Amino acid sequence: MEFQEKIKSLIQQMTLVEKASLCSGKDFWYLKGIARLGIPSIMVTDGPHGLRKQTGKTDHVGLHESVPATCFPTASALAATWNRDLIYQVGQALGEECRQEKVGVILGPGANIKRSPLCGRNFEYFSEDPYLTGEIAKSFINGVQSQGIGTSLKHYAVNNQEYRRMTIDAVVDERALREIYLPGYEIAVKGAQPWTVMCSYNKINGTYACENAYLMTDILKNEWGHEGLVVTDWGAMNERVAALKAGVELEMPGVRNGNDARIVAAVEAGQLDEAVLDRAVERILTLIFKAAETLSRDFTCDMQAHHALARRVAAEGAVLLKNDGDLLPLQKTTRFALIGRFAKVPRYQGAGSSLMNPTRLDNVYDEICKLTDADSLLYAPGYTEKGDQPDEALIQEALALAEKAEVVIICAGLTDLYETEGVDRRHMKLPPGHDALIQRIAAVHPNVVVVLSNGSPVEMPWVNDVPCILEGYLGGQAGAGGIADILFGVVNPSGKLAETFPLKLEDTPAYAYFPGGPATVEYRESLYVGYRYYDTVGQPVLFPFGHGLSYTRFAYRDLTLRRPNGPDDPSLTVTFKVKNIGQVAGQEVVQLYVRDVESTAFRPAKELKGFAKVALQPGEETGVTLELDRRAFAWYDPQLKDWRVEAGAFEILVGASSQDIRLSAVVEMPGTHPAAPAARTAPAVYHAFPKGARVSQEDFEALLGHPVPPNRMTPKGQYTLNTPVEDMQTSFIGRQLFGMIKKQMDQMAMGKEDTPAALLLEATSHEMPLRSMLMGDSFLSREILEALLLIMNGRFFKGVFALVRAVLRR
Ligand code: BGC
Repeated sequence: MEFQEKIKSLIQQMTLVEKASLCSGKDFWYLKGIARLGIPSIMVTDGPHGLRKQTGKTDHVGLHESVPATCFPTASALAATWNRDLIYQVGQALGEECRQEKVGVILGPGANIKRSPLCGRNFEYFSEDPYLTGEIAKSFINGVQSQGIGTSLKHYAVNNQEYRRMTIDAVVDERALREIYLPGYEIAVKGAQPWTVMCSYNKINGTYACENAYLMTDILKNEWGHEGLVVTDWGAMNERVAALKAGVELEMPGVRNGNDARIVAAVEAGQLDEAVLDRAVERILTLIFKAAETLSRDFTCDMQAHHALARRVAAEGAVLLKNDGDLLPLQKTTRFALIGRFAKVPRYQGAGSSLMNPTRLDNVYDEICKLTDADSLLYAPGYTEKGDQPDEALIQEALALAEKAEVVIICAGLTDLYETEGVDRRHMKLPPGHDALIQRIAAVHPNVVVVLSNGSPVEMPWVNDVPCILEGYLGGQAGAGGIADILFGVVNPSGKLAETFPLKLEDTPAYAYFPGGPATVEYRESLYVGYRYYDTVGQPVLFPFGHGLSYTRFAYRDLTLRRPNGPDDPSLTVTFKVKNIGQVAGQEVVQLYVRDVESTAFRPAKELKGFAKVALQPGEETGVTLELDRRAFAWYDPQLKDWRVEAGAFEILVGASSQDIRLSAVVEMPGTHPAAPAARTAPAVYHAFPKGARVSQEDFEALLGHPVPPNRMTPKGQYTLNTPVEDMQTSFIGRQLFGMIKKQMDQMAMGKEDTPAALLLEATSHEMPLRSMLMGDSFLSREILEALLLIMNGRFFKGVFALVRAVLRR
């Protein structure tokens, strides 16, 4: 029987209760099966840059151990490779490890846009640019799924911060949604069909992602044609029946919250069409059987090969930011000193649900020894484990060592307390102990190479005092080898920034509106995210989007533009030549930006619409062809509810970074729609966007087309299951509940003091909505919580009565 027919026939044989049961997980990591019908229970697991398969105690925030697996570089580094083929290979390797471990779906990649450098999970995301995000996500997914293993494209959508992530309402205008926050998903969905898409915790324009029919059905399923299923982020379910209607098939993890029964009741009461449930079950069964088919065959990975791949990727994802006087690469004979604790204790991954257990862990010290055939190196730690204060004794030791060396390599960066799921950074600075070490050494030594390990941009007050900076990102378990390869010229660097490094936090476009709260976060900067902002307003940056140096140089020439589909279609074939004019082989990331010269709508100064990575021997030249379709020129017209190209001139900019444009030409494009766009609808501030990015509430409301929702804590009397428990402390019961949560979190954090896990638990205890109390194995039920809400909201007798009934039922 055909696959789809078999599934349809199974659905016919299922009872209503069985169908509903498939719509939620069995436990943290398994979907339910139905033994009598031969439906197996498959496992899903985190992601994104390595497997976090837990076999013992389970949790969804990375607290407990997992089986060893290859820790690849985190997403920031993956994106900095700008190498679609390489990312595909990473995906393949992850898929293979899933097969070996009998995991059906890996929970990644994350395609959220880096709206602010402060988002605590930026290390898990690719870029500030949607096109690059989409292209990398697409390659990742295609790679994993080539192995017959599923992915989960997350966290859909507009989840760009950790602060109050479970309840915050992201208020975003339609153009920013369509042009910035969604295209990454769109490219990945259309180009790779991820088996699952994970809906985020937050609300988008007033509606929880899980209930957002506009995002889940109208856009994802209908417009983009997603064939897989939508799964909630762990605990992101709000109202089960509404979510099913909105297009969310699967609730994870499995908890005793009565939601399956609610589905049954809704069908029985005629509030939910059983056909909706059937369609959901069909998608779920399709996933289960696709995964089961793959997992029915045993598989063994070549873990050595995966480690080697991880090293290659780490080297390609490292970005050489600065190399004055061509101090790098170093010679094996160079007399150098290695300073910084990170050289021996690497910082290589972020914390939270992506935190995994690597198969092995390289460090820079050992890798340099191996490369240079040295038995030992001049080494000093330079800062303490926490690095939170300059340590004079350690600095003195480092200074003494530096004196003996021709070149000083300093390994610095962010300690792991800075980058974790659940907690945003408060600033963009390095730990003071790291900054002080660099500054003090740079003051006495001319040849300092700073090697950074961090998942997102940092301020560099010493940038002009050191000749070389290598951004190693969080390079995964083999990251240290990648760094050593670059320092000593085994690999020619070819990574380019997938995000801008601003000079300071105050320069960032969302500075005034990030992270918002307590109830809403307003995206007043609209389209002006990352380089779209800096380049439009002329804000100087530390290192621009797309920047990255090589040990060779490349020359660009012969830009030609051709209209492949005739004069009426706004598509374009762009060709040009790139030549390696240096002495060593290298790879160049060529970037294509489009600028709309004149437009009715407000538009950023330029937008990335194409790129390629080319490998060239010294003296070699190659032709590059990039195709631009109509979307490359279009903006989303909310009135038209469609993408519109306005006839007129567009500038095609080809270069080595967003600010290093080597070739340009202007082309006249036809429009896509005969009628002229409605007169300017956006307020003037968006057309001449100010440096400083301040937008008044009035202007933002004019852009949105409606007032912004109130940004206040829920007042007493109006508490709901979605009110963060911390906000209920004006009520006696609220204080008790908050106390219970605090106690539970404190217990979980015991023995983990001063770790990212403790920070995450602390944040969770403050931000968790009341409904999340049902996630644990507690005595509570939804009915009990609803009864308590009645009491807290002042309906005392009704509440007590409901409470007694709920407790008796429990
Ligand atoms: C995270 C997801 C993750 C899930 C399962 C959630 O807290 O937001 O990214 O996949 O947990 O661990």
